[in-house]
Amino acid sequence: MSKEIIVKNPATGEIVKEVKINSEEEINEAIKQGHDSFKKWSKVNAHERSRLLSNWSRIIQEHKEEIAEMMTLENGKPLSESRGEVDYATSYIDWYAEEAKRIYGRTVPASTETKRIIVSKQPIGLVAAITPWNFPAAMMTRKAAPALAAGCPFIVKPAVETPLTTMRLVELAHEAGIPTDVIQYVNGSGSVVGRIFTSSEYIRKITFTGSTPVGKQLIKESAETVKHVTMELGGHAPLIVAEDADLDFAIKQTMATKFRNAGQTCVCANRIIVHENIADAFSKKLAEEASKLKVGNGFDQDTQVGPIINEKGFSKIVAQIEDAIEKGAEVLAGNQYKADKEAGYFFIHPTVLINVNLDMVIMQEETFGPVAPIITFKTLEEAVEIANNTPFGLAAYFFTNNYKTGTYLHDHLDYGIIGWNDGAPSGAHIPFGGMKESGLGREGGVEGIEPYLETKYLSVGNL
Ligand code: NAP
Repeated sequence: MSKEIIVKNPATGEIVKEVKINSEEEINEAIKQGHDSFKKWSKVNAHERSRLLSNWSRIIQEHKEEIAEMMTLENGKPLSESRGEVDYATSYIDWYAEEAKRIYGRTVPASTETKRIIVSKQPIGLVAAITPWNFPAAMMTRKAAPALAAGCPFIVKPAVETPLTTMRLVELAHEAGIPTDVIQYVNGSGSVVGRIFTSSEYIRKITFTGSTPVGKQLIKESAETVKHVTMELGGHAPLIVAEDADLDFAIKQTMATKFRNAGQTCVCANRIIVHENIADAFSKKLAEEASKLKVGNGFDQDTQVGPIINEKGFSKIVAQIEDAIEKGAEVLAGNQYKADKEAGYFFIHPTVLINVNLDMVIMQEETFGPVAPIITFKTLEEAVEIANNTPFGLAAYFFTNNYKTGTYLHDHLDYGIIGWNDGAPSGAHIPFGGMKESGLGREGGVEGIEPYLETKYLSVGNL
C-alpha cells in the first residue's frame, strides 16, 4: 500500500506534492494528544480563546495569496474564487472568535422556594472532522472555529485531493498561538481514518462534510460509542423561476450559483424549474451567458470555470448528460469537453439542457458539475412537487417578485437553506445545513457552536 498521497493539479495532471500518509499508530497518538489537551484547553478562558482565534484569522489573511494559490493548485478553482474562499474561511474564525465570549447558561425558576436551578454549557471534548476537496479552507474553518471557540480540541482529516490547504491552515493556527495538540491534522484515506476516528473512545464528536453515503456510514459507526455527529451532506438544489420573476436578475444569480467552482458545490442549483411561459426566453439567455464563460486553468486571469476534480467526477457528469440526451434532452450550450485521461485533466464547458424530464438521472442524482438542466412547470404546486421530490433538502432557490408566490414557496419547500431572489445565501452568520438526507445539525450562526457544547443542569436543594 502506498505511503504517500500524490497531490495533483487537476488543471494539468502534474504532481504538486507528495504527502505522507499517517499510520494507524500515528493517528491514534494524535487522537490521544488531542484528548489529553482537552483538560487544559477547556479551561482557557473564553476571552483568551477568542484572542487566539482572532490571531489565527489575521495570520491567514496575511498569507492570503499563498493560500489562495495553494487552493487553485490542488483544487483547480479560479484564483479569484480561491481568494474569495480565504475570506469566507476567515469569516467563520472571526464570527466564532466573538461567539466564544457568548456561551451563556441560564437560571430556571424552581418549583419550590428551597431550590435553585442553573443550566450551564461545557465543551463536549475532542472533535474529529473529515472534510471534502471542494472548499478545502472554508469547510475546515467552519468546523474548527466553533470547536476551538467552545473549548474543544480539534483534529481534521482533509480529502486526499486537497490536503495542502488544511495542513497550512493548521500550521498557521500554531503560529497564532493555538497549542499544537489542540489543533492537528492527519492524512490518509477516508475509509481508514474514518474508522479509526469513529472507533476511538477519546473522540466525542464527528463533524463531516461530504457525500450522503459516507455520512450515513459515519453515523452508523458513531453509534457504537454514541458520539455526537454533525453531517453536512449532499444536495440537489432546485431553482424555481416564477412567471413574474425579473429574468435578467434570475439569470445572473443562476449563473453564479450554477457555475461557481465548476458546479462542484453542495448548494449549487442542480435542477432549474422554470414557468412554461418564460422557459424559452430564460433558457436561451442562460445558454447565451453560459457559452460566454471562459473555461481553463484557474491561474489564467480570465478563467471563470476550472477543471473537474478527477476522472470519477468527470465520468459521472458526462454519463448524466448522455443519459439526458438519450432520453430526449436538447443541448443549448456546452456538452464539450477538454479531457486527457492519460495526462489527468478533465474540463467540461458549461452545459445547458432543455426538454428535460423527471426520468433522467440528472434530475435524480446530485450532479456536482457545470450542467444546468431546465424543466418547466405550470402551477406552483407542480414546481414544489418537483423540487421536493428527492431525498435531499440542503439548498433551494426561487425567483419571484410576488410576495404571495414567495411566501408559498418558502412555506412548502423542504430545504434548510432558501434563497428568495438570492443565489448566494451562505455566510458565517447564518445557520447552514440540510434537511432529510442532506444532513444533521447546522454550521454557522449562533446555531453553529451549539453542537460543540453539552448542556449541564444543576439543581441546588435544601436552601
Ligand atoms: P466524499 O467522497 O464523501 O468525501 C468527503 C470526505 O470523506 C473525504 O475526506 C473522504 O476521504 C472522506 N471519506 C470517504 N470515504 C469515507 C469513509 N468510508 N469514511 C470516512 N470518511 C470517508 O465526498 P466528495 O465527493 O469528496 O465531496 C462531495 C460531496 O460533499 C457532495 O455530495 C457534496 O454535496 C458534499 N458537500 C456537502 C457540503 C455541505 O455543507 N452540506 C459542503 C461541501 C460538499 P478521501 O480523501 O479518502 O476521499
